[in-house]
Amino acid sequence: MKQLIFASHNKHKASEINALLNPDFQVSILDEVGISDDIPETADTLAGNALIKARFTFEKTGKSCFADDTGLEVDALNGAPGVYSARFAGPECNSDNNIDKLLSLLQGSANRSARFRTVIAYITDDGKEHMFEGIVNGKITSQRMGTEGFGYDPVFMPDEANGLTFAQMPLSSKNTISHRGRAIAQFVHYLKNN
Ligand code: IMP
Repeated sequence: MKQLIFASHNKHKASEINALLNPDFQVSILDEVGISDDIPETADTLAGNALIKARFTFEKTGKSCFADDTGLEVDALNGAPGVYSARFAGPECNSDNNIDKLLSLLQGSANRSARFRTVIAYITDDGKEHMFEGIVNGKITSQRMGTEGFGYDPVFMPDEANGLTFAQMPLSSKNTISHRGRAIAQFVHYLKNN
């Protein structure tokens, strides 16, 4: 079994990925390899931030590693919040504050189209870099719908979901069409074939 380090402190994401890679690969998060640093995400693109996290981890461990970064891109806001999705409403904000800000910026806007994008950066043992991407297109609703999920899920309605927001879908259905699910599927396909 080959070890892969996930440049994240998020156990939940790691176990999702582990389930897809079992039994060929074993994913460990940063804390499990003795790295407690919060890696600063200072790039202005998702790919840039994923690479910062993956390179930081590769330099510290010298082992195969990967990192992900996700953003919500709203067309009427010229692609915002994008790389700033987590802190859209300010440094101390929570998801509710982010949604409030998003809905108020889009008030009266006929153009509600948006997409989630996830980028994964993977660095192999020999230092080669590979990028994977997953996208789901959809619309921003005018009010919250549903209680599942996290982040912007209550106001994001994927085009493929028959009028449901991500927050109205069970996680298993969300994963089959989501940005992250698609990026991970591409990454897993690559790992299994290379
Ligand atoms: P991260 O790069 O996965 O940490 O995602 C950055 C931010 O994007 C999160 O803090 C959430 O606000 C938002 N986000 C990422 N994935 C999702 C999702 O699946 N649903 C809703 N919001 C998400």
